[in-house]
Amino acid sequence: MTERNAMTDLSTNTALREPCVPGLFSEDEGPLLHGARCITCSTPYFPRVAHCRNPACAASHIVSCTFGGEGRLWSYSVADFAPPPPHRYDKPFVPYAIGVVDLDSGLRVVGQMVDPVESMRVGARVSLVIEPIHHDEGKAFTSWKFKLLDR
Ligand SMILES: [Zn+2]
Repeated sequence: MTERNAMTDLSTNTALREPCVPGLFSEDEGPLLHGARCITCSTPYFPRVAHCRNPACAASHIVSCTFGGEGRLWSYSVADFAPPPPHRYDKPFVPYAIGVVDLDSGLRVVGQMVDPVESMRVGARVSLVIEPIHHDEGKAFTSWKFKLLDR
């Protein structure tokens, strides 16, 4: 088995996948971000918050909820150089896009884009995915990312 095939197997074998940060997202029932929403003013939050931050909100009433599905790429930036420690990445470093996505559920969230930098287009439809950020110790460490739908 080549090294590349080994990485692909780690990426798809759920037993060998581990979230970079536990509790922020899950993938057992499809890719989902674990956030919250204020039921008084409907403001969505990710990650979860203890109190509503909307200054116009009459009464903070936060409930846990999940966000997933599709959205639209509002803007993006390109990471042209490797992030400094403690960030980890698979070597050699490949430049990637960081997107700001408006999910259809109303949440605006930042995430790494799966597709090559050259294919980014503001306004493009995207879907939330859980994908490896880096591989280490026989595991694929995952995070939330966004994938273009209409490439
Ligand atoms: Zn509120």
